[in-house]
Amino acid sequence: MALAVPTSLSPSKVSSFRDCALAFRFSAIDRLPEPPTVPAAKGTVVHRALELLHCLPNADRTPAAAQECLVQAMDDVLSSDEYAPLALAAEQREAFHAEAAELVRRYFGIEDPRTIDAIGMELKLEAEVGGVVLRGIIDRLELGPDGELVVTDYKTGRVPSERFEQGRLGGVHFYAYLCEAVLGRRPAKVQLLYLAEPVAIVAEPSDQSIRGLQKKVGAIWSAVERACEREDFRPNPGRLCDWCSFKAHCPAFGGELPAVAVQPPQPQLLSA
Ligand code: SF4
Repeated sequence: MALAVPTSLSPSKVSSFRDCALAFRFSAIDRLPEPPTVPAAKGTVVHRALELLHCLPNADRTPAAAQECLVQAMDDVLSSDEYAPLALAAEQREAFHAEAAELVRRYFGIEDPRTIDAIGMELKLEAEVGGVVLRGIIDRLELGPDGELVVTDYKTGRVPSERFEQGRLGGVHFYAYLCEAVLGRRPAKVQLLYLAEPVAIVAEPSDQSIRGLQKKVGAIWSAVERACEREDFRPNPGRLCDWCSFKAHCPAFGGELPAVAVQPPQPQLLSA
């Protein structure tokens, strides 16, 4: 019996399929629950803090204000249904706060938020390409000094090695494509802000990069359809297994595959 084909793709699902087809199946098709993790919570908190910061008038976006935004973001995120189960003890919460505060501090080493003219944050965009629905959430869309659109994505993990850099930028080209398809304008620049370093990786979308993105999405979608038809999503054991939520189910580690999809995929946003 063939597995149900997912209804959409997001940048994270594209890289999940490329990293390990089986982990993709567990998440996008079987929809096994993924328990919250501290790194994911930290990323969400820092994103929220920067979102709050950019909601302030430009002149008020100071490092001190950013730390106040962080306190509010921690309260919002750690009490949410998604992350409350982490139930951090006081000491863990203190360490969490210190690490998140450092990331927010380092953000100011990349740019001065008082100069940023954000026109959208946490923007949910959706478009169809070759019969596939692409969905994504853009962290920040802004108008550059020359009035051109700029897409910004915050990263709280480490900068990828050169070998993986194009893959990470592929996600940003994905957002550039969505922007052009939905808003009718191609961004002049897409950038990943790696807060921990801190460093920005910047790319300029072109006809070639957009064509490349369309080709890549088409190829991945065909591979997903084929894998569903054949029920053939293979594990790809490697260093990512250490962080995989599905290790207990993975045959590469003695687990058992679900007999059929736990529930058919719903037409909802797969996390970006
Ligand atoms: S444990 Fe490793 S091989 Fe297994 S599903 Fe997760 S990432 Fe893939």
